[in-house]
Amino acid sequence: MFWVRGNRRDFDNWEAMGNPGWSYKHVEPYFKKLEDFRGKVNRKTKSIHGYGGPVTVENKRWRTKVIDGFLRAGQQLGYRVVDPSDPDQIGFSVVDFSSRNAVRWSTADAYVKPASSRSNLHVVPNAHVTKIIFDKNKRAIGVRFQHRRQMKSVYARREVLLSAGAIGSPQALMLSGVGPAAHLRQHGIKVVSDMPGVGANLNDHPYLTGLAWTVKNGSAFHILDTISPVVAAEYIHHRQGRLTSAISIEGYAWPLAGEGDPYWPEVQIGFTPFTIGNDYGLITSHVLGIKNKLYHDYFHRLGGLEGFSMGPFLCRPKSKGSITLKTANPLDAPRIQTNFFDHPDDMRAFIRGMRFSKEVASMPALRDDFEARFYDLPLPGCENYDQDSDAYLECYARTLTGTTYHPSGTCKMGPASDPYSVVDHTLKVRGLKGLRVIDASIMPLVTTGNTNAPTIMIGEKAADMIKEEWGAPVQPTGY
Ligand SMILES: Cc1cc2nc3c(=O)[nH]c(=O)nc-3n(C[C@H](O)[C@H](O)[C@H](O)COP(=O)(O)OP(=O)(O)OC[C@H]3O[C@@H](n4cnc5c(N)ncnc54)[C@H](O)[C@@H]3O)c2cc1C
Repeated sequence: MFWVRGNRRDFDNWEAMGNPGWSYKHVEPYFKKLEDFRGKVNRKTKSIHGYGGPVTVENKRWRTKVIDGFLRAGQQLGYRVVDPSDPDQIGFSVVDFSSRNAVRWSTADAYVKPASSRSNLHVVPNAHVTKIIFDKNKRAIGVRFQHRRQMKSVYARREVLLSAGAIGSPQALMLSGVGPAAHLRQHGIKVVSDMPGVGANLNDHPYLTGLAWTVKNGSAFHILDTISPVVAAEYIHHRQGRLTSAISIEGYAWPLAGEGDPYWPEVQIGFTPFTIGNDYGLITSHVLGIKNKLYHDYFHRLGGLEGFSMGPFLCRPKSKGSITLKTANPLDAPRIQTNFFDHPDDMRAFIRGMRFSKEVASMPALRDDFEARFYDLPLPGCENYDQDSDAYLECYARTLTGTTYHPSGTCKMGPASDPYSVVDHTLKVRGLKGLRVIDASIMPLVTTGNTNAPTIMIGEKAADMIKEEWGAPVQPTGY
């Protein structure tokens, strides 16, 4: 539900990479078109948002006290409090949510349900696409899918639009014979088009959740409080109280970058108003996939204590992963290889982000006003390093980093000169006819923020490109 558009440089860079029409000035009208912003605005931030669109975005939620310490700590470091949709980003913010009246507002709510009575929309839930069907001229003419244990086909008069996400789309293409030829042959799949870029260029945001600070009582969050009947009733009957919060990240910061363009943040800092240990290992550590032994050896001393976690996610990793087939069976999951921290620059940027988090927590607004104290028990496996050293922080990062679930880039958009581009700037698959990919997989480089908002923007922009192609009226965007 976290709503972050990304930095204007993300989109300007997409255009500079050979994708005309994708700069921020081109995509901003689509962000505005899709949004129905219902959060707090001021004179400066009002014009950033869109109003009246299908996706509701809001921020009036229950908040902890310590989030104010986070924002003030940022100001003490010289940063502004910013709107998380501000394309210039640099600063500290509270999170915005894609929700309506404190209930998740998905793209199904925003787009599919309102269109469900249209005669030209037919939705088949629980259908699994096994293959895109091509004719002998390499035109996509339909889709083969499994539904209720039966194989079925559906045919398209004009185009097939593939939106199976950054894991599903390259898998579906490869199963259909579109991908790296040698890899397809290895699985006995007949090659329709040899495209080395399908499944390559997996971008994601590695994220560190472990760094913890304790604070004075009454400032943060006890996860187990959310289980109380009073809290539940408050939410169910009045959409108020703790359950309206994300029970997760409450604030973000985009610090000036340590290398390259300083205004294009290399990390996004997430501020969570509880620690992994707060709930005695009942929920959070399982959600994050932390092994029981590590929990007991390291986090358990935080049981019941109020605190916060703060850590970086790496915005544009230089390490790229891949999606490949494990088998030619469409019902088998593909192999996801993230390659986090393969490139040494990534670890350097990540460590700068960890150090920045510690600097934020050492500001008087957190250290003095909320008695923030760093939880400095040496992490098991890293005890031999000095805690202030880069080696310790690297060991820490390699032990506790996970995904932010932002896979993207695996059918990347790019110019014909790039052998790894899969789609052109109109999202048509190169070398084939009648087929577009429209989802997070087309991002040539992941955005500096969470990926849902830019993915919906991609859908909106693609809708106009399709309408233009087939002569349907398109509302002018101004660009
Ligand atoms: C746990 C989690 C938390 C997240 N939190 C946030 C957040 O707070 N903010 C944010 O901005 N982003 C968040 N994201 C990321 C965000 O959800 C994605 O960036 C976004 O959904 C990508 O959209 P998409 O259309 O590319 O892919 P998806 O939303 O994954 O849609 C692809 C769809 O295709 C279907 N599919 C795949 N293969 C097939 C097949 N063979 N046949 C039929 N259907 C198929 C899938 O079931 C899925 O419904 C989160 C992701 C996860 C997993």
